[in-house]
Amino acid sequence: MADQLIRATAADGGIRAVGVITTRLTEEARQRHQLSYVATAALGRAMSSSLLLASNMKREGSRVNLRIKGNGPLGGLLVDAGLDGTVRGYIENPRVELPPNSKGKLDVGGAIGKDGYLYVVRDIGYGYPYSSTVELVSGEIGDDVANYLMTSEQTPSALLVGVFVSSKGVSASGGVLLQVLPKAARDESLVALLDSRVSQLSGFTPLLRAGKTLTEIMEQLVGDLGLSILPEVQMVRFDCRCSFSRVLGALKMLGEAELRDMIEKDEGAEATCQFCGEVYKATKEELTQLVEDLRAGSS
Ligand code: ZN
Repeated sequence: MADQLIRATAADGGIRAVGVITTRLTEEARQRHQLSYVATAALGRAMSSSLLLASNMKREGSRVNLRIKGNGPLGGLLVDAGLDGTVRGYIENPRVELPPNSKGKLDVGGAIGKDGYLYVVRDIGYGYPYSSTVELVSGEIGDDVANYLMTSEQTPSALLVGVFVSSKGVSASGGVLLQVLPKAARDESLVALLDSRVSQLSGFTPLLRAGKTLTEIMEQLVGDLGLSILPEVQMVRFDCRCSFSRVLGALKMLGEAELRDMIEKDEGAEATCQFCGEVYKATKEELTQLVEDLRAGSS
């Protein structure tokens, strides 16, 4: 099934539900960054979470950055997702591998670390991003993002994200977010009900691997609560906004002395985009042109 996102409501608008499939884009991230199994699971869960978080923003161009810094061996990770369905991200130590945890699953919590912080930045495009920080709960990412939504955005939320990866690559990735909206937030029983519904599932990826669609998963979760699925199916994809001209712009900022040094010593420059792993090469001639541009600009 293609990578996609669907939105729904239930309980007379008291519940907001969003589901996302990110199998292909997680596989693309795995290949681009040569991620280990546990790093694939961590980045995939974070990318699904960020797309789910971005899905309730209103203004075109809105984006969410989610940064996790724990005390585990993966170091930090950063993902950036847009309301338009694009997402990108990277991990500090992408090749770290850990043995499975006591449940026989990829040990994302151990790899991220239980002590640390989750930073969320919501940018609605006005130039004043809203940022918030919470302590990590488990490092498993889903719990941490749900805790962020409860404590920082005061929205009781049940979030389930998962990635299934093997030697053949990523065969299932995605997640579902159920939120109790302000009009129903005083209804404690509703919050408890959503939590129990999500915890009754054995995970998100077993459902996908069994051939269930997002609609069917939503129906299984809250189909008896007056579920109404919005008709629009939004495509989601790995997409980075880097380009050669942006790289040249960054090189230019280094200044003339540094550029001359690169021209003489290295006969060019090479820059790798951290977000997508794309390698950009600038030749001696292109660097010389930058120096000339700088001189023209300063005269
Ligand atoms: Zn890039």
